[in-house]
Amino acid sequence: MSFSLPDLPYSYDALAPYMSRETLEYHHDKHHLAYVNNGNNLLKGTEFEGKPVEEVVKSSFGKNQGLFNNAGQHYNHIHFWSWMKPGGGGDKIPGKLEKQITSDLGSIAKMKEDFIQAGTAQFGSGWCWLAVQNGKIVVTKTPNGESPLVHGARPILGCDVWEHSYYIDYRNRRPDYLKAFVDHLVNWDYVAQMHEKAMA
Ligand code: ZN
Repeated sequence: MSFSLPDLPYSYDALAPYMSRETLEYHHDKHHLAYVNNGNNLLKGTEFEGKPVEEVVKSSFGKNQGLFNNAGQHYNHIHFWSWMKPGGGGDKIPGKLEKQITSDLGSIAKMKEDFIQAGTAQFGSGWCWLAVQNGKIVVTKTPNGESPLVHGARPILGCDVWEHSYYIDYRNRRPDYLKAFVDHLVNWDYVAQMHEKAMA
């Protein structure tokens, strides 16, 4: 099994005006595709060949940096496309997930504030996250292609804060991009599915 580029789960125009067709064309068709192609080239002839992406990410971390960077970004982007939907965001969070966010992070408003803060504070390229660690939902951030997977946690929501994700639409205004992601793009049903699996 090698890496392959998944189709976007919506049309290229579906997330406008919060994320434009031009951003999605570059981000999905060029950046994500490059991680897939580079990852496949670097997998060839290694002990990681044929393993599921999640396993490649975890087992290449700290051992094969080039492969890890591409596999990590492939994993992150597969989910990133599904973490968004047209008409997403807002406070329509499925009950069980909403309850745990409130008990672990204080409130939905506080979770959003902390998530945006984590993404804003990530120096350079990286991601901000909601993850399940030891049965609790936490807010974290990681550099480059890392994710909570390699830090003993299960990601349930991630936002890409590499410039390729927002520079066309927001230029240098990363906090505005993060706010639009939280208010208008997050697919909370997909987050709830990942939360369910992470708690199982
Ligand atoms: Zn990206």
